[in-house]
Amino acid sequence: MTETADTGTRDGAGAPANWARTVTYAAREFHRPRTPEELAALVRDSMRVRVLGSGHSFNRIADPGPDGVLISTAGLPRTIDVDAAARTVRVAGGVRYAELARAVHAHGLALPNMASLPHISVAGSVATGTHGSGVHNGPLASAVRELEMVVAAGDLGTIDRDDPRFDGFVTSLGALGVVTALTLDLEPAYGVEQRVYTELPLEGLDFEAVAAAGYSVSLFTDWRRPGFRQVWVKRRTDRPAVDFPWAAPATGPLHPVPGMPARNCTEQLGVPGPWHERLPHFRAEFTPSSGEEIQSEYLLPRSSALDALHAVDGIRETVAGVLQTCEVRTVAADTQWLSPAHGRDSVALHFTWVRDEAAVLPVVRRLEEVLAPFEPRPHWGKVFEIPAAVLRGRYPRFDDFASLVRHIDPSGTFANAFVRDLLGRPDDC
Ligand SMILES: Cc1cc2nc3c(=O)[nH]c(=O)nc-3n(C[C@H](O)[C@H](O)[C@H](O)COP(=O)(O)OP(=O)(O)OC[C@H]3O[C@@H](n4cnc5c(N)ncnc54)[C@H](O)[C@@H]3O)c2cc1C
Repeated sequence: MTETADTGTRDGAGAPANWARTVTYAAREFHRPRTPEELAALVRDSMRVRVLGSGHSFNRIADPGPDGVLISTAGLPRTIDVDAAARTVRVAGGVRYAELARAVHAHGLALPNMASLPHISVAGSVATGTHGSGVHNGPLASAVRELEMVVAAGDLGTIDRDDPRFDGFVTSLGALGVVTALTLDLEPAYGVEQRVYTELPLEGLDFEAVAAAGYSVSLFTDWRRPGFRQVWVKRRTDRPAVDFPWAAPATGPLHPVPGMPARNCTEQLGVPGPWHERLPHFRAEFTPSSGEEIQSEYLLPRSSALDALHAVDGIRETVAGVLQTCEVRTVAADTQWLSPAHGRDSVALHFTWVRDEAAVLPVVRRLEEVLAPFEPRPHWGKVFEIPAAVLRGRYPRFDDFASLVRHIDPSGTFANAFVRDLLGRPDDC
């Protein structure tokens, strides 16, 4: 498949669909406003609205439902204003990370981290708690210092870190309004070199040491046999090198999904390069991952990493039957109320499944059963089956978020079935 969505991706009947074509948005109308005024008028005049980023989520989080209006931010002006002295950037919500990263790098500055792909929009990513890897790296939302948002009345508001409600606003699942711009923290540009190692055993794994062996570390496995097929270690060139004695270095470039071409992936074999061309696994100009897929991901306390990995190993054959690849990363705790890493240094267990929902969902439920003792919090943009009532109990600030939504969006303009179910709100608000 070609890289698209926004949504230029259509299902077989021509309706707007997510990037993976696993979700057709059941919207009554689909709009791509060109100006902030057009956007504000659309919001003001609509009863039910969901905003779409780049459309890379795998569930119905962005779907307004059949009586709703879906608004893409892709047509709005692509503002990227770098303030080199303050080391910040003000970026329009619909801009994708690839474009942002290039602009920031041109000023000799950098983002602290990136996800595995640069094709995703900034506002859509932080709305779902999207993250990269690294024991000291929080989710991408950690870099946000200010938000500009159009709320239900069509008015534009601004909120920054000094406001005690800020931690409810960034990872807010699109439930509060349309984020039109974000101001992000930057740091001086840095170099990264990426090395891949093969066949790391699970038995005797020192997870903490392996996870800390680089600025960003990812372990990949197909679970067809115990242990990890690949370990991707991204090391900052401005920091001391750490030995990696646990597995052998790869002798050529690899793709994390077996059988996929390594040319889609960022440069490996220790060739140093700029941060934005090494931190993502996938190059901006190619399709990331396999394209024909469904994804799930769970964040749980990092202290449980080994136990959780052994629990998955216990159902290895069940998982392997519908799996393309599993990636294990770390995410530092953050403070966003609905962040899956909220208050917990986390390990993230990610699963790229085959694109066959009927075959995948029973495995997702089985996986959730074995992970339940570790109180996993699912990635908001991926497929999960954990009931909303259970999830509410996993977020200490959940009630604060629910009352924030009631306050900012009392008539439920930005609510959809996903949000109403999560918040336990009736269908009419
Ligand atoms: C191949 C692939 C690889 C991935 N890799 C990673 C990874 O490495 N790490 C990770 O954590 N996730 C990863 N994801 C998941 C992805 O980061 C999330 O689904 C993310 O939300 C995608 O951003 P988007 O702009 O496409 O969001 P969309 O799917 O468009 O929207 C997601 C949510 O954000 C809301 N939203 C979007 N724009 C706005 C806005 N302007 N204002 C308010 N709300 C808004 C929507 O209403 C919706 O609720 C991956 C996905 C794919 C397809």
